[in-house]
Amino acid sequence: MIDYLIVGAGLYGAVFAHEAAKAGKKVLVIDKRPNIAGNVYTEDVEGIHVHKYGAHIFHTNNTKVWNYITKFATFNRFTNSPVANYKGELYSLPFNMYTFNKMWSVITPDEAKAKIESQKKDYIVAKLAERGLSEGDEFIPENLEEQAISLIGTDIYEKLIKGYTEKQWGRPCTELPAFIIKRLPVRLTFDNNYFNALYQGIPVGGYTKMVANMLDGIEVKLNTDYFSDRDYFNSIAEKIIYTGPIDAYFDFKLGTLEYRSVRFENEVLDIPNFQGNAAVNYTDRETPWTRIIEHKWFEFGKGENGNDLPKTVISREFSSEWKPGDEPYYPVNDEKNGKLYNKYKELAASEKNVIFGGRLGEYKYYDMDAVIASALDMCDKVLN
Ligand code: FAD
Ligand code: UDP
Repeated sequence: MIDYLIVGAGLYGAVFAHEAAKAGKKVLVIDKRPNIAGNVYTEDVEGIHVHKYGAHIFHTNNTKVWNYITKFATFNRFTNSPVANYKGELYSLPFNMYTFNKMWSVITPDEAKAKIESQKKDYIVAKLAERGLSEGDEFIPENLEEQAISLIGTDIYEKLIKGYTEKQWGRPCTELPAFIIKRLPVRLTFDNNYFNALYQGIPVGGYTKMVANMLDGIEVKLNTDYFSDRDYFNSIAEKIIYTGPIDAYFDFKLGTLEYRSVRFENEVLDIPNFQGNAAVNYTDRETPWTRIIEHKWFEFGKGENGNDLPKTVISREFSSEWKPGDEPYYPVNDEKNGKLYNKYKELAASEKNVIFGGRLGEYKYYDMDAVIASALDMCDKVLN
């Protein structure tokens, strides 16, 4: 009899397995995929660590998590600074002085501010008039388009937000909630860093190696689906840590939780440099993909020994509708799915020997640092 069967070799499972083994527990990790690391899995292609399930940039303000994860990998100094390509015009992201200079040839923060303010003002006055209100009345944005223009003006909205957002969400900006865009930073400085995090980087050697270090000395069985022999797996362990989809655990008996999906088209190119940056967003409506990732730039184009790599690997990302059976990517945190999840959570509470954790087990839009924090909290609770 083992103490813990851990279903899923992603970050949640790996943190739990590592801590449980350290506490002297007998553990077994299984994963239905042929590889460890879950969605942070990086695959070696032409000496490049390809982020197979989507680009992953580690960023956190949580010092405890940073101190923990850096025990398993050295992180490089990668800083996320995507470039926007609008019909061949290139702009810096997030919106900052480089963006405003390119858009309007403004030089100083005051000039940029004046330009944004004047576009905002014209728009808000017109919208208030449409609503039968007068200038000076409060303008409350009712959808993403109104939120975006009242934050940053019409030019940036038209060139850098509208097309990208409509492709990503498959709906017009006038039908999307305002809150989606609140996350985009607007800076009157020359700062291209996409994240406002204290710590940021990519694990040297790839995420797979980092997770392998976490699982060092722990038995892992790959290509092993928990549901292929559920009774057997339940019989060998005192407790189960389940990091798969919570609805699948209950045979979808209350209904299916929905996800947003992404499709990747990967290409190996016989050239050393395709776009000169890890991420380029295509912000027009006509280009069918939302962005292209060129994986080698997460590690400055260098191989294991600091050598330049002759080839490159790119991934075009397409936003796609999710249907049952597809790879689940982003949980949809709307009211309908939230209610269904809460019902599954009640069922989960009655499974005394099972802990549901991680992005799929808790149906939460977790970043990597949050998943690690959540797993460490659980370890504190259950491992003495
Ligand atoms: P997962 O990594 O999904 O692991 C769950 C594992 O369980 C999988 O390996 C799966 O195969 C296995 N499993 C499921 N069912 C079974 C079963 N029945 N039997 C056996 N095994 C099973 N976070 C960031 O911080 N920065 C980013 O830049 C970032 N980018 C992202 C981009 C994309 C496209 C996506 C989708 C997410 C991104 N994230 C990012 C979030 C990050 O991927 C997650 O926080 C993290 O990977 C979640 O880890 P997890 O262990 O909970 O789940
Ligand atoms: N966004 C945009 N243009 C861009 C990048 C992002 O309009 O070039 C908008 C878009 O609506 C997107 C939101 O900002 O849904 C959040 O983008 P981010 O890349 O931060 O989120 P993620 O795709 O990681 O969820």
